[in-house]
Amino acid sequence: MSVKESLLNNLAIPLLLAVLLPIAGAFGSLLSTGEWITWIQLIPLYGWIIFLILIVVWIVAIFIYRRLEKIKDTGPTIFGIPYVYERHIVGELPYVGVIWRIYVDFTDILDSFETTAIKNFNAESTPRCPDKNCKTELEEHKNFWGGYIWLCPRCGFKKKNKDSRYTESERAAKIARSDIEKKRNKQRRK
Ligand SMILES: [Zn+2]
Repeated sequence: MSVKESLLNNLAIPLLLAVLLPIAGAFGSLLSTGEWITWIQLIPLYGWIIFLILIVVWIVAIFIYRRLEKIKDTGPTIFGIPYVYERHIVGELPYVGVIWRIYVDFTDILDSFETTAIKNFNAESTPRCPDKNCKTELEEHKNFWGGYIWLCPRCGFKKKNKDSRYTESERAAKIARSDIEKKRNKQRRK
């Protein structure tokens, strides 16, 4: 962490300065002059006001910096050629209150879905509206106070979620792969 980052991340630094500097001043004054407030009186009132304003500005800057760090785009970076090949939708998974479409890329399908490697099953990164007559792709907006809001452009469905659709689609894919694995194991035992 750079100096700038630690100064902008650590709330304890300005708070400690605000408390410790006057205390240190008072002790210094007592040791050198025998009086607690001699040094403190040497600093004019506007000096103290400027000191207080600096501490408040510092604390506000820490809160804004933390918020901006949190709402930075968390989406994955896409490298290389654009997505051109087709996907085959194999099912829908309800998860965290929305619908995730589970797919396999056509290039990954061997003879049938039954023989397709489980690792090739994935979830679309855009969730769908849970209304069974709607199922429209949801829009994702960042919430200033943290987390995300998913909105249906068709029916107005709205859902708050702590993690982004990218994170949740990875989890949905894991659940789907686990479901497929269980189903296959069951069929094998028959
Ligand atoms: Zn909808």
